Amino acid sequence: MKLNHNYLKLNESYLFSTIAKKVAAYTEAHPDKKVLRMGIGDVTLPLAPAVVSAMKRAADEMGVKETFRGYGPEQGYPFLKKAIADYYKPRGVLLEEDEIFVSDGAKSDVGNILDIFDTDNTVLVPDPVYPVYVDTNVMAGRKIVYADATAENGFLPMPDEHTKADLIYICSPNNPTGAAYSREQLAEWVNYANRCGAVILYDAAYEAFVSEEGLARSIYEVDGAKECAIEFCSLSKTAGFTGTRCGYTIVPRELERGGVSLNKLWLRRQTTKFNGVSYIVQRGAEAVFTKEGMAQVQENLAVYRRNAAVLAACLDGLGIRYTGGKNSPYIWMECPGFSDSWAFFDHLLAKANVVGTPGGGFGKNGEGYFRLTAFADETATKEAAERLKTLFGK
Ligand code: PLP
Repeated sequence: MKLNHNYLKLNESYLFSTIAKKVAAYTEAHPDKKVLRMGIGDVTLPLAPAVVSAMKRAADEMGVKETFRGYGPEQGYPFLKKAIADYYKPRGVLLEEDEIFVSDGAKSDVGNILDIFDTDNTVLVPDPVYPVYVDTNVMAGRKIVYADATAENGFLPMPDEHTKADLIYICSPNNPTGAAYSREQLAEWVNYANRCGAVILYDAAYEAFVSEEGLARSIYEVDGAKECAIEFCSLSKTAGFTGTRCGYTIVPRELERGGVSLNKLWLRRQTTKFNGVSYIVQRGAEAVFTKEGMAQVQENLAVYRRNAAVLAACLDGLGIRYTGGKNSPYIWMECPGFSDSWAFFDHLLAKANVVGTPGGGFGKNGEGYFRLTAFADETATKEAAERLKTLFGK
């Protein structure tokens, strides 16, 4: 018996478990303090009524012999794949149903997709970024190189002809910086990947937050992307599905390497290792894409956008530099007076009882930065802004 020793190379715990432990220790020691959680990227608003009704109807169907469903298609029910394809159409992105794979969320698929790629590939990961890209590749023992996302490049690294990479991760709008690529910038990545034969793994989990013109919500808005990119998306942040679990991955038919279709490989992988998302959840997901569902989901997104504006206005007033908040639920701020983001985390927790996420947890370039989320409750967000004003106001 031999263990996968790559696991021993991982950081001891996942970023958010470390934060949860620190907060638990603080609240245990100070039970009288009201701690405001602006750290983990979980949503707080409930599911849209259209989604709840659809899931109730589906649950009823499951209790009747004639409409009961057992195993469904591993790649998702046609009704949901059609709804997803229709969601992309207004952006000029035409998808075939067999290019869409319904999943239980983007996190699983971002990790699982690696099954179809050799461990000998070099992966290019932006720094800072969602830690799952790094950890899943460390687990597999792949070589990782980093693309520096800094204030100088607006946290949007561009391709560097001197860097050799086979798999390229792009997260736009980015977690944690909130930076989002324009179509022109993405076209540079697409051209680069097509030139060198790399595959782009594009994480669009926050696409619903894009509000500025010219920014891409899907990489397939760019010509040539179907030849080089796999897109991951999720209803977690769009429609509050973090606990309900549903997402989708798009592997275009055009995407081939060495004459092999990646769509076929992924289908083979999914039919072997995945038995699909529950019928009830898929009916709920379908409801997100209806006119009624979309309108309800937009109401929730508007609340999160207002929260982001509250935090942004607070930082503007304090003269603290930040990015994000406009096309993303995250505000990426400098740590005033601190170079170590974990020290800033401790300071904010102790002095303002506000929890955020230390930038260092997202990569070395995250040091000196701190992530606040707009997903918290509206009242808590306003209170957190007031506490920041009290702590950092002159
Ligand atoms: N991708 C990014 C960039 C994320 O920030 C997250 C969650 O925070 C996910 C994927 C995971 O999404 P899901 O809930 O669909 O697994």
